[in-house]
Amino acid sequence: MSNLPLPTSADFSEDQKAYLTGFFSGVLHRDKVPFLGQLADGRFTHEAGADVTENVHGTPLEDLCREERIKHEKHGLDSYDTILANAGSGEFPRDGDIFRYKFHGLFYVTPAEESIMLRCRVAGGALDGRQFRALANITRDLGNGFLDMTTRANVQVRGILPEGAPEVLMRLSEAGLTSQGAGADNIRNITASPTTGFDPGELIDVLPYARSLHHYILKNRDLYGLPRKFNVAYDSGGAVSVCADTNDIGFQAVRVGANELGVEPGIYFRMQLCGITGHKQFASDSGVLLTPAETLPVAAALIRMFIENGDRTNRNKARLKYLVDEWGIPKSLEETQKKLAFTLRKFPLELCEVPTPKVKHGHLGIHPQSDGRFYIGILMPVGRITVGQAQALADIAEKYGNGDIRLTVWQNAIIPNLREEDLEAVKAAILACGLAWSATSVSGGLVACTGNKGCKYASADTKGHALKLGSYLEQTVALDQPVNIHLTGCPHSCAQHYIGDIGMIAVKVKTADGNSVEGYNIVLGGGTDDTRGIAREIWKGLPYDEIPPLLESLLKVYLATRLDDETFNTF
Ligand code: SF4
Repeated sequence: MSNLPLPTSADFSEDQKAYLTGFFSGVLHRDKVPFLGQLADGRFTHEAGADVTENVHGTPLEDLCREERIKHEKHGLDSYDTILANAGSGEFPRDGDIFRYKFHGLFYVTPAEESIMLRCRVAGGALDGRQFRALANITRDLGNGFLDMTTRANVQVRGILPEGAPEVLMRLSEAGLTSQGAGADNIRNITASPTTGFDPGELIDVLPYARSLHHYILKNRDLYGLPRKFNVAYDSGGAVSVCADTNDIGFQAVRVGANELGVEPGIYFRMQLCGITGHKQFASDSGVLLTPAETLPVAAALIRMFIENGDRTNRNKARLKYLVDEWGIPKSLEETQKKLAFTLRKFPLELCEVPTPKVKHGHLGIHPQSDGRFYIGILMPVGRITVGQAQALADIAEKYGNGDIRLTVWQNAIIPNLREEDLEAVKAAILACGLAWSATSVSGGLVACTGNKGCKYASADTKGHALKLGSYLEQTVALDQPVNIHLTGCPHSCAQHYIGDIGMIAVKVKTADGNSVEGYNIVLGGGTDDTRGIAREIWKGLPYDEIPPLLESLLKVYLATRLDDETFNTF
């Protein structure tokens, strides 16, 4: 548990404070680009008739990629008027507004479905029963009746029509939630270890820092419209993985003992950079050691460095990884340093105490907390629950806990702060609403992205296939240890197939009669944290129907031939 201080304005350089007071990113580039005319409707834009040749980041207009042109024409956050107008006419967004809607967390998912999806922001995956019930009610009244938990400990609601979009956003705000910046080229939901604050083995409660960064982003308009999306995670050092090393910035809690380098012993964070597992890369240690309070200004400085220097011409090279690949970590840190009022502390990783190993599927079942109470992890098959189930979980959290609910990056939820004498009643209530609190070796680590029932990029029905596959393997293989299976619908890799023990990426497969069916390439041997590994491709272009018996055989061979303590991940 931590009472360490949060950052203050003294932690920001004058340069960053200029951002804090500016409410429009163009302010910073007024010397380069004539800017800040105010239209009659109150929006800000380029001065009428100005000879604009560059965007606000200094990239020539003719070189901008399509999405950058859209951002240049109008800031995505300024699309609320369009959302209102389309609600009046019942029309879906068109052209550039499809992209701008995502700045408000609204995704027009055509052609997969003629509807809009809402993606929220839930700082650190922490919300309460009242908020969970509000999401359930939004889904009941304006969505398709299902809530999807995501791999960023977040909630998505589908089936929204244009007429309902403003009401969804208003209800979300009234519940103390937001979807601002949840999509497009923005900083995604800030994740945190889901058991932080009550995990007996953790080094520090990271939720205050995740919340702090979440609100900092919301209140600084220049932190929208990055070259590409950006992920940040806080790992408390506790038992349940938040997959911090798959993020652009992973803050990993460590303990520093007595040393001869002048660093006071205590709890710090290592800063890991450039995790992007869809591109087969984990975040690597930057050599930097930060106090908890330093993480926010350093994240802000690094993101601003990326905003100023990232590639705005080629979407395939626009993630942080590519800037750092080009510059190297030393120059990237030098440029970040220019935006800080304190010196980045270099400290050898070897002198930091490594956190305890993660417990695979530790996000499920009943576990003791650091304060003598208990938490229970609830299995939500491939992250999807009904309105009734969400309302029941909100009731359970409020009746038996203190109302808190935590979402995990494993598409499941945790209800903490339970008394031992209530555990049987909690278990019964979870079963009564059709969910489970214990999991099999397969279902506990079954992760699937949206798939082609709701995402235009998908080549297969990932959620449907995951459920069928999980059920088949449970009936045919007596596994005695957790195996994670990740199904992702396209190379965007929202379900992070490269970190699964078994990873599946959807492809269209040509059959002998010339037809095309849904299938997958299969990768094996991935992991994260202390079992970190990028899975290797073993099979290519298999029709889905061939996969369940194939994986059954594979798992049976593993069980029959493994060495004593050999995990599937290392088999
Ligand atoms: Fe859509 Fe691809 Fe993400 Fe799946 S991985 S949700 S198909 S973008």
